[in-house]
Amino acid sequence: MDHAPLQVLIDRETLHQRVAQLAGQVAADYPDSPPLMVGVLNGAVHFMMELLACLPEAFAAGVEYDFVGVSSYSGGESQGQVRLTKDVGADLGGREVLIVDGIVDTGLTVDFLLARFRDRNPRSLKVCALLDKPARRRHPVPVHYRGFAIEDVFVVGYGMDYDQRYRALNYIGVLGQPI
Ligand code: 5GP
Ligand code: MG
Repeated sequence: MDHAPLQVLIDRETLHQRVAQLAGQVAADYPDSPPLMVGVLNGAVHFMMELLACLPEAFAAGVEYDFVGVSSYSGGESQGQVRLTKDVGADLGGREVLIVDGIVDTGLTVDFLLARFRDRNPRSLKVCALLDKPARRRHPVPVHYRGFAIEDVFVVGYGMDYDQRYRALNYIGVLGQPI
């Protein structure tokens, strides 16, 4: 099947190296109580699976993970609406919770999730994002673990889509301009 030409932004090996570093940081930061990792569907799936696979075995054994689904509508220039389409199953009360997202853009999604989860009284609540577009931020959110800061370009691959396609690519690319 045809697809528009892609420019490679972050290749497979570079992704793997950086995700392995993040996994090391996460393991070091939660020495006594492995976190409940909450992946944001669908974009975070590749990232989260690789992050988990890179964790040291003794640490990985204690990790739990789950997913949330969100849908966002950009209802105008300055306002966006986020809705939870799938919630986590576990009670977050007293837990160390780590939100794992593919990309933080305006910050709306993470801002929404932090507010929703904070209400459930986790012991700690942090954010891990593979990609960050700081230039686009409208909702200031903490990103405690960040894979790469990128320019304001639309990326696909490694979980991220354009019209539901390109997610399954194992690298991050930028869609070419239509001719
Ligand atoms: P937010 O603006 O809420 O921080 O970003 C929400 C979502 O917009 C991301 O989780 C992702 O689904 C989508 N998004 C933002 N920038 C990009 C991008 O460059 N490529 C793709 N495929 N999705 C993006
Ligand atoms: Mg999308």
